[in-house]
Amino acid sequence: MRRPIVAGNWKMNGTQSEAAALIEGIRSGLADVKNAEVVVCPPFTLISLVAAALDGSGISYGAQNLNVYDAGAYTGEVSGPMLRDLGCTYVIVGHSERRALYGESDDVVAEKFRAAQQHGLVPILCVGETLEQRVDNDTETVIARQLDAVVDTVGIEAFGQAVIAYEPVWAIGTGMTATPEQAQAVHQFIRDKLAALDGAIADGLRLQYGGSVKGANAQGLFGQPDIDGGLIGGASLHAEEFLNVCRAG
Ligand code: PEP
Repeated sequence: MRRPIVAGNWKMNGTQSEAAALIEGIRSGLADVKNAEVVVCPPFTLISLVAAALDGSGISYGAQNLNVYDAGAYTGEVSGPMLRDLGCTYVIVGHSERRALYGESDDVVAEKFRAAQQHGLVPILCVGETLEQRVDNDTETVIARQLDAVVDTVGIEAFGQAVIAYEPVWAIGTGMTATPEQAQAVHQFIRDKLAALDGAIADGLRLQYGGSVKGANAQGLFGQPDIDGGLIGGASLHAEEFLNVCRAG
């Protein structure tokens, strides 16, 4: 039985006082989140503060990115050992914003996945197609290519300690959520593809959906057989909305 996982991706948002208030709000409504594992991924600058504010709550935390190298002359970058030192459990790799805005190739994403695991971090690997790719019927080809790059680099066994987030690019931050059926079809494709390599690993792997999830649509999405929670952007910045999503997990 896979435990649903709902992770908030705060992106580049939040001052210290805003983060403290958000965590306080989430903590105060946590009692009726019965099932889902709850995770928050703040910007690097807020990880220490969030870690302290979450103490004893049962909520996990992680980062939104990491460098493939451990240390050295990489100005402005943050490494796996640094995140581990801050007590992070998770790190998002291959978010579509990083692929599109910072030129992260499939191979770089695969190396980040490897770097995360090398330092005891659980990667949340994001995959997803653009609107143009969907219209061209290339969704499965794109997802397969993104997955193959990682499988070829780290092997299928590595997915025993990972989460995959299917995030159609056209649904991120647009309010255009995939229907539960559209999302389920791609989740099933991902699980079947990995099951062809290792049935037990595919069966235990948690697959999140991401893209304009909010309280009102979370239940329909998370009720699908291959959807195990969500990666949440905008709605994760509002405690009550995020809690409503978590309650659907
Ligand atoms: C995301 O950025 O991972 C995301 C899913 O964003 P939003 O929920 O705002 O669409």
